[in-house]
Amino acid sequence: MRAQPAASHYIGGAYVESPEGSAFDSIYPATGEVIARLHGADDATIEAAIAAAREGQKLWAAMPATERGRVLRRAADILRQQNRELSELETLDTGKPLQETLIADAASGADCLEYFGNLAATLTGEHIDLGGSFAYTRREPLGICVGIGAWNYPIQIACWKAAPALACGNAMIFKPSEVTPLSALKLAEALTEAGVPAGVFNVVQGAGDVGAKLVSHPAVAKVSVTGSVPTGRKVAGLAGSSLKHLTLELGGKSPLILFDDCDLESAVSAAINANFYSTGQVCSNGTRVFVQKGLKDAFLKRLAERTANAVMGDPLDEAVNLGPLVSKAQYDKVLGYMKLGQDEGARLVCGGKAAQVPQFPQGLFVEPTVFADVQDSMRIAREEIFGPVMCVLDFETEEEVITRANATEFGLGAGVFTRDIQRAHRVIGQLQAGTCWINTYNLTPIQMPFGGFKSSGIGRENGHAAIAHYSQIKSVYVEMGSTEAAY
Ligand code: NDP
Repeated sequence: MRAQPAASHYIGGAYVESPEGSAFDSIYPATGEVIARLHGADDATIEAAIAAAREGQKLWAAMPATERGRVLRRAADILRQQNRELSELETLDTGKPLQETLIADAASGADCLEYFGNLAATLTGEHIDLGGSFAYTRREPLGICVGIGAWNYPIQIACWKAAPALACGNAMIFKPSEVTPLSALKLAEALTEAGVPAGVFNVVQGAGDVGAKLVSHPAVAKVSVTGSVPTGRKVAGLAGSSLKHLTLELGGKSPLILFDDCDLESAVSAAINANFYSTGQVCSNGTRVFVQKGLKDAFLKRLAERTANAVMGDPLDEAVNLGPLVSKAQYDKVLGYMKLGQDEGARLVCGGKAAQVPQFPQGLFVEPTVFADVQDSMRIAREEIFGPVMCVLDFETEEEVITRANATEFGLGAGVFTRDIQRAHRVIGQLQAGTCWINTYNLTPIQMPFGGFKSSGIGRENGHAAIAHYSQIKSVYVEMGSTEAAY
């Protein structure tokens, strides 16, 4: 098996196996080839990870923050040096084209480690003058944090959680999605090589039951999950019953609003990126594309012409820009929505079915799909599909499109295309979404906080905002006079 790791888990700075844990395979979605076989964590493995994290965290939090920052930046350098091999691994595990993984996965993870490495030594409390006496605050770590990842950006998600957690002096136990278990182990190796003490970053494999045990564990102070809304609700329930800190990065059905006056080619590019990048498996995708009536015909024409140029094929070939879906379950789900859209009466502009790629008869490829004349009430316009299925909806007025864009339980992303600067900011100000773009879509630099409104999440990743979610403030009142009492 071409991507078999030394063992399933990484605990206390070393690979660890749990032969008794239930076995599962990592599969290359382009061919169906089993690339690795791992075991989920049994209870003893989970306890070993907790014990290692407890020890590691004490050492790590006691290190000067400048040193912690230096170690994280070194890990960033290691990821960059290994970018090609990490990208190939990510392509094998997810099926995403190498053209993407070379720039969006380990590379984003490295940026994140560097950013939070740089921030580590700047994290301070404040002095509060009380007129003679004073108070000060300390920003302290939470302790053991659990990170739980989705399968679409495995190493990126691991870094987006680990980097701020470690910068603040916490330890982390990370559970990747069972579908994409491999790259988090490589991150653990890189952190060890960079100088992170044993136990500070641990990887524990398994399905949702392992995640739930970690979330419920009394030694865990904080949980951060990237996943679907139903999983987020379950985790919030478990974390709430023991009052743990919580970050949830969940799903979406985000609006991308194109006004008549926008730049057509840029708008088409954004719609393509917002629906077909990573074969549509991106949480913040702008899957409801609202197009103002005067732009509609030209937009659909150019969109169909340009979508026909997508190159499907061997994901390891850098010329390919559309890969297979990640798993058979996701493939069946997406094909189901492609059929549903037609049954619901949406007009199929292109795609709509499984794609045949000659060298990859077992590949989980589907055609990039555009539905026009979509109505707000259709399920394809309301439910997260997580595949390359774009819904184009018509609108006439600004007021109307804002109301319709907000008529969803989700609130992860939103985009507006217009040349009218006042309208752009006026509309963004009324959209219920945590991450918004004007005249572009889906760019997520590490400096910019990322997260959702409404059912799309709680808390923020990235930017200075993430620090608040991985640390706690201790207030200290210092009396400079004597202390009196009533009796
Ligand atoms: P899931 O919600 O199915 O799973 C997410 C993770 O949670 C997996 O590691 C899963 O384990 C684990 N898990 C499942 N049940 C539980 C439980 N009861 N307790 C603890 N952990 C549990 O999401 P997917 O992996 O299918 O990813 C797709 C979803 O992720 C989409 O909805 C997408 O929108 C969202 N997403 C959100 C992002 C954001 O930042 N907002 C970014 C990327 C994706 P396992 O799967 O191994 O069983």
